[in-house]
Amino acid sequence: MQKKLFTELGLSPELLKAVARVGYEEASPIQSEAIPVLLKGADVFGQSQTGSGKTAAFALPAIELVDPAIRATQVLILCPTRELAVQVAEEVSKLAFFKRGVRELPIYGGQSYERQFQGLQRGAHIVIGTPGRVMDHMDRGTLKLDQIKMVILDEADRMLDMGFIDDIKNVLSKMPPERQTVMFSATLPGPIQQLVKSFTRNPVNIRIQDQALTVPNIEQVYYELDRRAKVEVLCRLIDIEDIKFGLIFCATKMMVDELTEHLTARGYAADKLHGDMSQAMRERVMAKFRKRGLEFLVATDVAARGVDVDDIEVVFNYDLPQDSEDYVHRIGRTGRAGRSGKAITFVAGREIWKLQNIMRATKGKIHRARVPSADEVEQKRTSAFYDLIRDTLEGGDYRRHDELIDQLLDQGHTPTDIASALIHLAGGEKARPATEREPVANMTIPRREERPERRQDSAPESRVDPFKKKKRPAEAVAAESGDLSERIGKARNKRDRNAEVEPSKVSHEPGMVRLSMNTGRDHEISPGDVVGVIAGLAKIPKESIGAIRLLARTTYVDVGREHAPRVLEKLNGIKFKGRNLFISLAE
Ligand code: AMP
Repeated sequence: MQKKLFTELGLSPELLKAVARVGYEEASPIQSEAIPVLLKGADVFGQSQTGSGKTAAFALPAIELVDPAIRATQVLILCPTRELAVQVAEEVSKLAFFKRGVRELPIYGGQSYERQFQGLQRGAHIVIGTPGRVMDHMDRGTLKLDQIKMVILDEADRMLDMGFIDDIKNVLSKMPPERQTVMFSATLPGPIQQLVKSFTRNPVNIRIQDQALTVPNIEQVYYELDRRAKVEVLCRLIDIEDIKFGLIFCATKMMVDELTEHLTARGYAADKLHGDMSQAMRERVMAKFRKRGLEFLVATDVAARGVDVDDIEVVFNYDLPQDSEDYVHRIGRTGRAGRSGKAITFVAGREIWKLQNIMRATKGKIHRARVPSADEVEQKRTSAFYDLIRDTLEGGDYRRHDELIDQLLDQGHTPTDIASALIHLAGGEKARPATEREPVANMTIPRREERPERRQDSAPESRVDPFKKKKRPAEAVAAESGDLSERIGKARNKRDRNAEVEPSKVSHEPGMVRLSMNTGRDHEISPGDVVGVIAGLAKIPKESIGAIRLLARTTYVDVGREHAPRVLEKLNGIKFKGRNLFISLAE
């Protein structure tokens, strides 16, 4: 089915503005079909799955119909569950944002009557409720249906399954007969057909069918997760799978903006593509991505249409696509020309239904995968670190420290203990024991910038070599070696080796806190630069700057606790060596 622009559907400027504000770039098939028909006043029976955008398909015409000057309920939306009623009310509220005076109210069982009475008394133009509670209010006389212009049955088949059929018939029979009737249902069992026949007038049938789709032969997996954990899981997957060239799809422009910011703040080379950007800007970003100047491109479906790039390793469906067709279109960007590719899809909460539709259309080749645990990420990190140590030893590309090692050996430490202590200090050892209860969003997950960099194309200096120091200004060397000797001293005195394991993001110096900056060796930053920018801009004494630890794309720096707020305030957002600096508390 053809998709249209929202501007082609006959909506008022206020609603178009709201749609743009929510970030929908293009109407989904059900919206493209249903909105013009509903705006003309016809009844509609829509067969469409959840996740197709059907809420906006009926909510936009419903909002358009309301006359805010009339203090009466003019639209009634019946939903099977309170969760759905709340979701629909939220969508209505977002879409009615620029329609002055339009009020919506969800009413459902379990919520206090008092609150609902007040809402109804104030005059709710659009009431979204579950059938039982709606009947209750009708019986009490607190909900009047005599001025209803439109009634919508959302997920009618589910309401039927839940035994609401009599309530629904009762409600429908008490409304003005000239009202507009809209029914949405995923399936069409006999009683629903009966309802349509009895309560609609010449309904326009709109059916969104999954088309036969040719799915590229690539590995497809999905992860079920909490919406709030998406960024963290994305970073874990990028890191654990060592992905260096990927396309990430989001549902809205806002999400694209937000995710791009998250990724760049975490040190990934990411940029965005969406409809609010000028053609010239989009072309610039595209060219950069094509030339591998970016690792990740975050985009909406519409903006990504022009993306014609080979070698994309992974396509992430950070947000699910509108339909199976978009899914196939999205994932077809990887695995081109016989190369291997992978599609990773995130599914949060109720979206699993939407994915099941996609699976049906794609013949179920999307496998469920488990979000890697902190332990697994850790293991991967350890093994990458092991490879790096081995490569460094085999390559012989390091400065020798025989004198220091001899001293330690003389003191009775074994070579294995010395090497273990150094690995621990270099961050190659688990920073903190992972527990089952650790939330996904926990910051102990090693991020890319903390892992040894193994890019083939990196210059030798940009590779992490924890044992090799560059020439640095005296103060930084002093700060760091002070930190090291203190830590080594501490480690020696402790009996219980496990107790020595300390989070690397916490300062070990009394009175100091550790800050994290989104810049590192890869950006040609030296400890001297870090001291310079902090002392210079935040005007704090150099003695208040402690250990500095430069990683590939992150720098940890200890500062006196009392100076930290000032450093954060003065340095955040400044340009530092040509990049926007983000600095935050690492602890
Ligand atoms: P629904 O089928 O109404 O439950 O919608 C599923 C999801 O799609 C919701 O999160 C909506 O916010 C989103 N959505 C609806 N219409 C659009 C659109 N035109 N473009 C992008 N996302 C949309």
